[in-house]
Amino acid sequence: MIDLRSDTVTKPSEPMRAAMASAPVGDDVYGEDPTINSLEERVSSLFGKEAGLFSPSGSLANQLGIRMLVNPGEELLTETNSHIVRAELGAGATFSGITTRTWLAPLGLLKASQPLEIAKPDSGPYLVSTVAIAVENTHNFGGGTVQPISEIKALYEGASKMGIALHLDGARIWNAHIASGVALAEYGKYFETISVCLSKGLGAPVGSLLLSSKELIARARPWRKRYGAGMRQAGILAAAGHYALDNNLQRLSQDHKMAKSIATAVAAVAPSVIDPKTVDTNIVGLDLTGLKISAGDLAKQLKEAGVLASALGPTYLRLVTHMDISESDISKVNEILPQLLQRALVA
Ligand SMILES: *Cc1c(COP(=O)(O)O)cnc(C)c1O
Repeated sequence: MIDLRSDTVTKPSEPMRAAMASAPVGDDVYGEDPTINSLEERVSSLFGKEAGLFSPSGSLANQLGIRMLVNPGEELLTETNSHIVRAELGAGATFSGITTRTWLAPLGLLKASQPLEIAKPDSGPYLVSTVAIAVENTHNFGGGTVQPISEIKALYEGASKMGIALHLDGARIWNAHIASGVALAEYGKYFETISVCLSKGLGAPVGSLLLSSKELIARARPWRKRYGAGMRQAGILAAAGHYALDNNLQRLSQDHKMAKSIATAVAAVAPSVIDPKTVDTNIVGLDLTGLKISAGDLAKQLKEAGVLASALGPTYLRLVTHMDISESDISKVNEILPQLLQRALVA
């Protein structure tokens, strides 16, 4: 099976497992795991942040971040199709009492004016006050799109004037960095809190971090424990993160090339389904609107042909490239997928 459902399906390689097995460890609830401590220092300094907090999932890193910025009953703004409001199962409301309002952006692409227009800080005793805005980069359900740094800057400037903080859902910020050439520390300048995942394209089995100031991370640490994620000798997991950063960051450009090649093969037979120019990174989102096949049925037909993809809506099929996919896998996909689409066009 060629598994293109997500970049979370990668399995740790033998050398990654060896690095995990030999990692020095300690009790991280006591702050004594040297491998976690060094990973927190390493990743936070990559982004120009003072401190980091290792977390078992990106969802928790996001939730700890927004919890630090937004009090119960206050408001977080985010894009309609962002992970924080669509894929974290209401965690912000359930655990932090956070309310949200959303703006809808084509391909999830940030235009600073959209959130700034709906932001309502200091709304007094009768209306909800906006205190933070979350930006997802790359945007998952937007098709792995990279947020323009000019819009991030403009959002930062506008939000700062209103006293509104920014959170970055950087689950795939690594892909944005490799695709755009924008330095990680440049992204770090504009966001008070940042979540990053090691378990997506970087290929670690587990692991995310929250990055911020010393003060906010010190506040987030007991919340992580309260949420049940105070881990002990978890340095074996952090070692996979170190290995991933040493070995798997630069190669993301290969995933991006493979995704572009799928999009190009699809557009050659069904140009309405995807514009390859919109494929910035490793996610290929196919819009099957107007075709005589649903995303679910196309996923079934692909599966019969040995390819796994995710039907994320009735007309939306997502394919994600990653390090466990080879060039020859992509050649196969580029034969099978256009054939199935062609049949759906004439059926
Ligand atoms: C995967 C992902 C996360 C975190 O997911 P976990 O499965 O909780 O690690 C957060 N944001 C985005 C955009 C993601 O794609």
